[in-house]
Amino acid sequence: MKVNDIMAALEAKHPGENEYLQAVREVLESVEEVYNQHPEFEAAKIVERLVEPDRVFTFRVTWVDDKGQVQTNLGYRVQYNAALGAYKGGLRFHPAVNVSMLKFLGFEQIFKNSLTNLPLGGGKGGADFDPTGKSDAEVMRFCQAFMYELWRNIGPDQDSPAGDVGVGGREIGYMYGMYKKLAREHSTGALTGKAYGWGGSLIRPEATGFGAMYYVDRMVRQKGETMNGKTIALSGFGNVAWGAATKATELGAKVVALSGPDGVCELPNGIDKEMIDYMLVMRDSRRNKVQDMADKFPGKAIFTPGKKAWSVKCDIACPSAFQNEMNEEDAKMLIANKVQYVAEISNMGCQPAAIAAIQNAGIPFAPGKAVNAGGVSTSGLEISQNAGHINWTAAEVDQKLHKIMNDIYDMCVEYGKQADGSINYVKGANIAGFMRVAKAMLAQGIV
Ligand code: GLU
Repeated sequence: MKVNDIMAALEAKHPGENEYLQAVREVLESVEEVYNQHPEFEAAKIVERLVEPDRVFTFRVTWVDDKGQVQTNLGYRVQYNAALGAYKGGLRFHPAVNVSMLKFLGFEQIFKNSLTNLPLGGGKGGADFDPTGKSDAEVMRFCQAFMYELWRNIGPDQDSPAGDVGVGGREIGYMYGMYKKLAREHSTGALTGKAYGWGGSLIRPEATGFGAMYYVDRMVRQKGETMNGKTIALSGFGNVAWGAATKATELGAKVVALSGPDGVCELPNGIDKEMIDYMLVMRDSRRNKVQDMADKFPGKAIFTPGKKAWSVKCDIACPSAFQNEMNEEDAKMLIANKVQYVAEISNMGCQPAAIAAIQNAGIPFAPGKAVNAGGVSTSGLEISQNAGHINWTAAEVDQKLHKIMNDIYDMCVEYGKQADGSINYVKGANIAGFMRVAKAMLAQGIV
């Protein structure tokens, strides 16, 4: 395969789908050399098949708001690749959602899910619905209307969606209620991220953030250091940032920044338990304003409008909100402020030029598909518990999550070790994730 030829064909076929094209290029560039050592991959046209989703559903979602007005949104589910298991991946509710975004996220999901070593295929979905400022009743009506269209295409052995940006436990509850009613069966594995007590797993809400910090802890140890006393900047203040802040603090690190669409909150003394708990209140309010933290904790949180988390000096920077949230200028500012590690928790959180700047400065950089894989891993554990009618304790789930993250880290090192001894985590994650999928596709014939 020649990456440029494949990309030229894809660009012609999917003009303007920039996030999707960006994600595909990164993976293909990482795997090109290894791929070309496997003529059997080329003969089966593995890459040409892998870059296109198996199918994409697009549907109209119509619902009535609290004022009695009729609202229409677009809903989607991208079923990307099922070589390793039933399609698995989150649902994102955000006004910017479109096919290109969900194809990029679905494509990334294939390799992330492969890295977990669990039987999970790759998929993603969502809607251009904006949860900001919506009431509970509006969210419920939207979730029900969304599921009314999607329910036939999901199920534990078919496709199992979960949460993502804008979709948390509450939304999963509303969607599951409608799914159960329409399917006429309590088929818990059809959705993950359910609440504990009716099929949910303990630690699932924390899992993405916890898993990310387990991974970052290994990156830091790789350099002979520990997390103790390290300062961390996190972007966002949602579920992912909440889990990461909790675990980072537990590991002795100091969270010095959180951000939102309105600006950044600097936390000069780090974050305490009360502030971590307040992150959940802020998220549930659906106001989407990080300034609320500074209003609640004057002196402990200092708000600056319009600035990003990357303006705060830190040892470890973790984008944990949205794709492409760190640009080259942000990366240069972090480097000038002596950042030591950058680990994406959001999918594709850094722009390619930002990654290049960080890597060229010799700073370890790890990609979202490895760092944030703890979320979907714990979804896999949730499905196992559902299938076996068992409930593991929080400690049991946490221990399994920790082991999965350690294994992912080890694979990234194995496949990403460079001649000079440094580790290219991007290559490592892409090659390790890709090989498992490619071998499964090869074994399953031309389908
Ligand atoms: N949305 C999360 C992710 O990107 C979780 C997916 C899942 O649990 O299926 O991995």
